[in-house]
This record gives sequence, C-alpha cells and structure tokens, in this order.
Amino acid sequence: MTCIREVSWLTIALESTLPREVEEKYETVIGLEVHVQLLTESKIFCGCSTKFGADPNTHTCPVCLGLPGVLPVVNKKAVEFAILTALALNCEVSNFSKFDRKNYFYPDLPKNYQISQYDLPLGFKGSIIISVDGEQKRIGVRRVHLEEEAGKSIHEGSDIMGSRFSLEDYNRAGIPLMEIVSEPDIRSPHEAYIYLNTLRNILRYIGVSDCKMEEGSLRCDANISIRPAGSQVFGAQTELKNLNSFRAVEKGLEYERVRQIMALERGEKVVRETRHWDEGKGVTMPMRSKEEAHDYRYFPDPDLVPMVIEREWVEKLKRSMPELPAEKRDRFMREYGLPEYDAEFLTESRALADFFEECARKYKDPKAVSNWMMSELLRLLNSASKSIEESPVGPGHLLSLLELIDKGTISVRIAKEVFEEAFKTGKMPTEIVKERGLIQISDESELSSAIDEVIQANPGPVADFHSGKEKALMFLVGQVMKKTRGRANPQVVNRILREKLSRS
Ligand SMILES: [Zn+2]
Repeated sequence: MTCIREVSWLTIALESTLPREVEEKYETVIGLEVHVQLLTESKIFCGCSTKFGADPNTHTCPVCLGLPGVLPVVNKKAVEFAILTALALNCEVSNFSKFDRKNYFYPDLPKNYQISQYDLPLGFKGSIIISVDGEQKRIGVRRVHLEEEAGKSIHEGSDIMGSRFSLEDYNRAGIPLMEIVSEPDIRSPHEAYIYLNTLRNILRYIGVSDCKMEEGSLRCDANISIRPAGSQVFGAQTELKNLNSFRAVEKGLEYERVRQIMALERGEKVVRETRHWDEGKGVTMPMRSKEEAHDYRYFPDPDLVPMVIEREWVEKLKRSMPELPAEKRDRFMREYGLPEYDAEFLTESRALADFFEECARKYKDPKAVSNWMMSELLRLLNSASKSIEESPVGPGHLLSLLELIDKGTISVRIAKEVFEEAFKTGKMPTEIVKERGLIQISDESELSSAIDEVIQANPGPVADFHSGKEKALMFLVGQVMKKTRGRANPQVVNRILREKLSRS
C-alpha cells in the first residue's frame, strides 16, 4: 500500500520541477559503484573460457563449480588489468593485496561465498576528472578491486516468486569482475552520467573491458542522499539497483533526488534502503529487505596466497599506458588546432581518434577531416547502426575524397554521394568517380553552352538579377548544377554567369 500512495504523489511531484527556493535548500550527494567484466580469455581462478554464448555449464570445472578440495589460482592478466585501471584512474597501487571470502548463500554461488577483496584492494585514493558544462571537476575514486562473477539463475515462468524451479548456468561463474567505487563527490544525476561516460572511455582506451552495459559487461549501482546545502553531514542514503543504461542511471537518480527532497520538505525521514529502478513505470520501488542483508562476514581466503605487487611490474605497466582520452583531447586541440567540441568528440573512442589522426597527419586541413567525420561519417555509421570499428570506409577513403575535392575533380555535393557509395561498397572514391563519370566540369567552353541555355529558359530570374536581387543568381547557378547533374564546378559557373549577365 505504501508503494502505491508513494507513487501517486510522486507522479504529481515529478511532472512539475521543484521550485527554485526548494532546490536551493538542498544538496545532492551521489556515489557510484561500477562493475566491469574484464576482457581476459580465461576465468579469474581457473582456466575455463570466458567466451559468451556457449551451451550452459560447458565452460566449467571443479574450481568454478566450487567442488570441495579444489585450489583456485589467480589469473595474472586479471590482476594486470586491475593495476592498469588503478593507474589510469590515478590510484595508488597496493604493495600487498589479498583475496577475501564474502559469505552468503545463493544458488548461483555454489561455494556459498564469493571471492572478492575487502580491506586491501589493488588500487585506492584515485580520481577521475570530468568535464561538466565546460568546467573540470575531480571525482574521487575510493577503490579498485577484483572479484569473481556469480553464475546465472534462470527461473521457470515469468518471475522468481511464482517459479517451481530454477536452472543454474555456471559458465559465468568465475569470470573476472572489477569493481570501481567512487567517493560521494558527484553532485547531480547529470554529473553521474558524465562520470560514467568518462570512466567507460578510459576503460575502453586501456582495453580492459568492452563496457557494454546492454550486454552486462558494465553494471552500475548508485548511492544517493540529500542534505541541507552547506552541511557536511550525509543524509540517509538509498542504494539504487537495476540501472541498465547510462540514461537509466540519470533518470533513476533524478527520480530519487526529487523523491527524497519531497520527503524532507514534508518533514519525513528518508529511510535507508535499497530501491529498484523500474524503467517502464519510471519510478523507484523499495526492494524486499531480505535482499539487503549486508552481513557478509568477510574473511581472508586461505586457498589463495596473498599477492606482493612488485614495483617493477607497476612501473612497466605505467610505461605501457596508452595516451588517455583527456590527454589526447588536449593534444588534438594543441596540435591540430581543433575546437574543444571536435576534440572531445573525436577522442571519445580510440578507434575514432586513430581514424582522425591518420588522416590529419597526411592532410593539410585537420578541421576539414573533423567536419567530414562528425557529419557525413557519423551520419552513415548511425544509419547503418555500425561502430567506427566496423566502418567500411577507412582513413584512406576520406583522404582520397578530400584530394579529389581539392583538385577540383569533384564538387563537395558530389563528394557526399561518392562517400556514401564508398561506405556502401568499400570502393575507393577515385574508382567510384571514374566508374560513374562524376568528374567535375570546370572547362569553361563546356559550361558555357549550359549556362546560355539556363539564361534563355529563365527570363524572370535574369530580370530579377538585373534589378539587384542577388538571390536570383543563386537560383540560376542551381539550374546549371541541375542540368549538369551536379558535376559543374559551382565557382566557375558563378563567375561565368556573372560575366554573361553583366554583358546582356
Ligand atoms: Zn573453471
């Protein structure tokens, strides 16, 4: 009953935004816990494959099935990925680390405990710089640690409560997960969204995870509380679960923010609880208290030897670190003279940045490269639902196209068509231009007769031009372009037209 009443007043509250004087009374405090699946070939404590989509329970062994008497051995690559992440997030890297058992019973966890890290994470005291409306803001990173993924339960029927039985698939059990916990430095749902984007870009750059939220390789839980503006004391927080996309994080947090402020405004207390974001209804609901029992009774895993992290190894990883998105963005602005907007866009993914840079190094006008990428290439990729990695055109295609425009072989209008065809077929622009006879006509004698015909056929616009209407000239140029199927060089047409009209 409480839920239903709660939803009805909230719906009313959320339809209108909070009055400014109410907004100004409070401050929002958000912290995010992000879980990412690491891109290792094998699981974290055994040699089983991490490949997705195999038949249930085919990627299992006594270790990840939790059979008695087995000994887990840590996957060095997973530790390396976690250290690399810690370094990329400006964390300190522990000299000494260990694994702990987080004890709880759930059918997808056959050992009855999950191997995780408790008091000695691999990385701690880090930060991420996010850019909020043009301003840089530092968000603290409390910890980076490793843990194992649990199996997957498939409940018969539509929901767990009505199920007669559940099926367990342990292919997922033991896949390495990395948890990244932020400090409660995030001040709005929008900042939370930017933080996630920035974090995802960094993780993709260093190649530790593909961070596909829709495929579950990146998951996020959020803590949110409200306190009087200026206060240093935290309010009671709620934990939000089931945030399945970056937008859901922003929307769920916004709902929760308003809900908590409204409760405080009415003199009520915010209850510390875990809430579930219902995307369809657009509301958060309290989860059953059974699911919030946090008494895990951690203790060190006696089967796994503690890890001594050698400084030499950390230094080596530091040296192998690729240029990160923020550095690359600044360099693009400096080196290629790009505006911040372009630089930000082009450095969002490494593949996009590489594409740009390969062209920009060989071409005189980097801004033109950026323009083509941000408009035409992006449009074609979006309409084909392809990522830049899957793009049928490469830097070579764009370079060849730009050269054809520069040499006056094709007009910009034709270039767009050629680019589209290159995207469809993968053919080089030079080849397309040759095959389809698209070479621009700049030859005056060839254009002259077409221009004469247009002048003859359009006495109205010609008269308009003579009476001083510049727009009429544009119309006539357009007619010549049409007549030559877009192949005429517009600058040349413009010039000859003016000459001819001034004589007539
Ligand atoms: Zn295994």
